[in-house]
Amino acid sequence: MIFIVGGAGYIGSHVNKLLSNEGYKTLILDNLSKGHEEFVKWGKFIKGDLKDKRLLARIFKEYDINAVMHFAALTDVRESIQDPGSYYKNNVKNTLNLLDAMRENVKKFIFSSTCAVYGNPLEIPITEDHPCNPISPYGRSKLMIENILEDYSRAYDFNYVSLRYFNAAGADPQTEIGEWHEPETHLIPIILDAAIGKRENVQIFGTDYPTPDGTCIRDYIHVMDLANAHYKALRLLEEDKSEIFNLGNGNGFSVKEIIETCKEITGEKIHTIESKKRPGDPPILIGSSKKAKRILRWRPEFADIKDIIETAWEWHQKLNRETI
Ligand code: UDP
Repeated sequence: MIFIVGGAGYIGSHVNKLLSNEGYKTLILDNLSKGHEEFVKWGKFIKGDLKDKRLLARIFKEYDINAVMHFAALTDVRESIQDPGSYYKNNVKNTLNLLDAMRENVKKFIFSSTCAVYGNPLEIPITEDHPCNPISPYGRSKLMIENILEDYSRAYDFNYVSLRYFNAAGADPQTEIGEWHEPETHLIPIILDAAIGKRENVQIFGTDYPTPDGTCIRDYIHVMDLANAHYKALRLLEEDKSEIFNLGNGNGFSVKEIIETCKEITGEKIHTIESKKRPGDPPILIGSSKKAKRILRWRPEFADIKDIIETAWEWHQKLNRETI
């Protein structure tokens, strides 16, 4: 059985779908602070929090868990600057509870890390050996766990894979699940909210970055491609190996380019306003996924940004038909 912590959230729920379709049994733990119970359509669900050490001990005793995947974290860079305490408690302290609880029983761990561990890149595309100098408490909290994993895995004899996601986007092509944050802070769903008239305009955070059109460039990677990398990482752990991988498409798109592509796909007018820079935002983040391609034999299937946004748009319309 695979224990998916945070499996009611955006990325965790897509991983749960994919693993379940591949025939794995899954157990989901989520405190539903960000996730949605409606997203747990596969496997067994326990509502609970990583703060609860007694619950964790009971879970590892009761269930035959073969591997742990850990998605439960706070992920908003801006919020992490305003309230670092919550980030260190949720992302670091609670993860330690999980690692301590699994120590005796489980030897395989997959960690949701982030390109925010790199900070302002010195070179593009970013490879895994690029120095890690995070510029936000969020990025630092994830790097702390990567460092802890290195020490723990050596001392307590387990293997782990840390996956540094670039910008997760898109949705399950069958539209059973997708992106749903409240409040929404991510660029693509915010633009799609403007397209359906739920929001008057889209703020562009910073227009004088050192990029061709002055707006930030990001590497958008489809959530199903991320899910597939977790499946492949699980197979790697079966070979008794620990690794860190970037997961991105290797292409960068500016905020303005994403807005234009959303206009094209939705056929709607999208009003924009130029706003101040958002603290903690590096100008360009583009990842090299060569290592994942080579070792995991992983290939993104949704390499075209239009395909990514198409699936996001299908899901976004469905979600808003059902929840408005
Ligand atoms: N962004 C923006 N307006 C918004 C939300 C985001 O201009 O309403 C920009 C943000 O500054 C960043 C990019 O879009 O450069 C992607 O932001 P998002 O929050 O989606 O992901 P992040 O890069 O923070 O993980």
